[in-house]
Amino acid sequence: MVQVYKSTCPLDCWDACSLEVTVDKGEVINIQGDGEHSITRGFICSKGKKHLERTYRDDRLTSPMVKTHEDEWQEITWEKAFELITSKISAIREQDSKRLMYYTDSGHGGLLSSIENYFFNLIGDVTIPVGSLCWSAGMEAQNIDFGMSLSHDYSDVLNSKTILLWGRNPADTAIHQMNYVQKARKTGTRVIAIDPRKTKSARQADEHISIKPGTDGALALAMANHIIKNNLQDNSFIDNHIKGFEEFKELLTSYTIDWAEKETGIDRRKIEELAELYATQKPAAIMIGYGIQRYTNSANTVRAIDALAAITGNIGIAGGGANYANKQAVNYIDDSVFGGDIDRNHRTFPKAKLANFILEENNPPIDMMFITKSNPFLQAPDTNRMYQAFEKVDFKVTIDMFMTDTARQSDLVLPCANFMEKEDLYFTSMGHNYVSYGPKIIEPEYDIKNELDIFTSLADKLNLTEFPEQEAEQWLKQAIKPLEKYKGISLEKLKEKPQRINEPDTIPWADKNFLTPSGKYELYSKKAQEWGLGPIPGYSQPFSTYTDYQNNNMTNYDFYFLTPHHRDSLHSQHFIDRSQDEPGYLYINPEIAAKYRLRENSVIKIASPKGTLSVKIKFDPELRTDTVYMYEGLWIGKGGSVNTLISDALSDAGDQAALYETKIRFVVE
Ligand code: SF4
Repeated sequence: MVQVYKSTCPLDCWDACSLEVTVDKGEVINIQGDGEHSITRGFICSKGKKHLERTYRDDRLTSPMVKTHEDEWQEITWEKAFELITSKISAIREQDSKRLMYYTDSGHGGLLSSIENYFFNLIGDVTIPVGSLCWSAGMEAQNIDFGMSLSHDYSDVLNSKTILLWGRNPADTAIHQMNYVQKARKTGTRVIAIDPRKTKSARQADEHISIKPGTDGALALAMANHIIKNNLQDNSFIDNHIKGFEEFKELLTSYTIDWAEKETGIDRRKIEELAELYATQKPAAIMIGYGIQRYTNSANTVRAIDALAAITGNIGIAGGGANYANKQAVNYIDDSVFGGDIDRNHRTFPKAKLANFILEENNPPIDMMFITKSNPFLQAPDTNRMYQAFEKVDFKVTIDMFMTDTARQSDLVLPCANFMEKEDLYFTSMGHNYVSYGPKIIEPEYDIKNELDIFTSLADKLNLTEFPEQEAEQWLKQAIKPLEKYKGISLEKLKEKPQRINEPDTIPWADKNFLTPSGKYELYSKKAQEWGLGPIPGYSQPFSTYTDYQNNNMTNYDFYFLTPHHRDSLHSQHFIDRSQDEPGYLYINPEIAAKYRLRENSVIKIASPKGTLSVKIKFDPELRTDTVYMYEGLWIGKGGSVNTLISDALSDAGDQAALYETKIRFVVE
């Protein structure tokens, strides 16, 4: 009998779309958007549609496999796989648990897929990465300024007179948000995109302002200077709700429009016009993208943009906001249920420095890696060193659905269930504030397990008696107790339909009670000072602290190298479809192609201080002539890892990878 189930897209995406999954005789035959969800409204992107094909692909991993020789694998039973893992972990625990690294990320958004936290907290003081390849500099910036990162409901842009898409490209990465931006624009809201690339969102905006990569902080500070000089600030908001305005105002005197014109490459009149528009055409919303915080100066960049919103009183009002992330749902999840309250002294290192840490750390060295929900061999910086790093680690275990680059470099691969083959809860920490339930819809066809079963079995075999042996439903009920207590949202309610945590007209910071030490919006922050950012958001030039380029004579590297997300792939996940040995496209301005005598579709090599990569030239006539770009996530051998060219430099806070602080040159052979 044909049945239709509601579920949720589990990908690390802004939108957490509600899905309708049609099943016939135990097999999924269709996946489409759920028309009843008020935000995702029945349409989904190509990545969501691919869940069906990915469930039944021929190359899906179907049983545990152990590497027997270079790229030769042998299927083994789960019993044998567990035996290999537990004997290795037991030996390590007898020596020093820090020899065991567990590495995870956001490849699957289900709450229960974080169960490994509990398991490894029980193992002992292991080694774990901290920080992010994605968003942590901006998160720290908003923690400093506001106390936490909250965003307005997608629909609130309908109240805005002005929208700045500052480094954000929702037309590709958050399609339902772009839907509201477009609606607002149709009713007269002015939409301006600030981006080095003319993205799809920029093409759909009223205006695109092309900015030199990494200089967004300079633009924001010069705008703030111009606003204050022309008395366009909101004095009432400043007097009542801001700490440190006078200090900020004094600092701004050096950030003049003339200076910013040189720094950003934006005409001075345009900077003035933008500042005046933003300050006077209120309410004005800023959508801050994550690309702008992938430089060494990034937390202060986000702080400078937040400051613009604060001094103009665009905080706590409908249609305003400095929208970066949205940590609404996570506040109602009890992470102690997943062992978050176990007092541990784990050894940590920045995620971006994975290769370097493994190669340089010998006290004690890493003997075993356990990798879940991620593909760090490909996605972490410095691919050439990553080969040496993985080589150094004696035993690597990866849980995945497919033989990714990381799985291929591992010694043991465990095949995992996808979101339709297990029960879980989903929410996004970026976009809207719904929490959704995903039931187990089909039985896995093969000998595959979900993370809960894997770690429950391992805990049992290692005699970790504190690890609760309970069904998924029990775990979920315990984890959402705060949600039930404070919002009346129980698991039963979630099973009926996705539930909003707050109504769409709930405006972040409407009460002006900020979660900062002073209770005010903090332009001046002691916390920021302690972290070495300086108490007030200032500006440092990108590349100024980057020794790779200084040691290698930066003038040899001609082009900023950006690696944005592709519309059709969630990081590396959907690039599985690319054919082998096909170089990835490098997008360049045709003027540059003419200068270097490069034809479209010709294959060339490009180089950074970290390595070289073969690429196929593709023209983007609307791109700056000082910038090239290539989509991140292309597999090794299926386009080539952009991280071959990217170093492990860190941003100014949050242990954020400064991935965009990369320059390349064409290799003339
Ligand atoms: S990837 Fe994002 S937009 Fe696409 S279906 Fe999933 S949640 Fe929706």
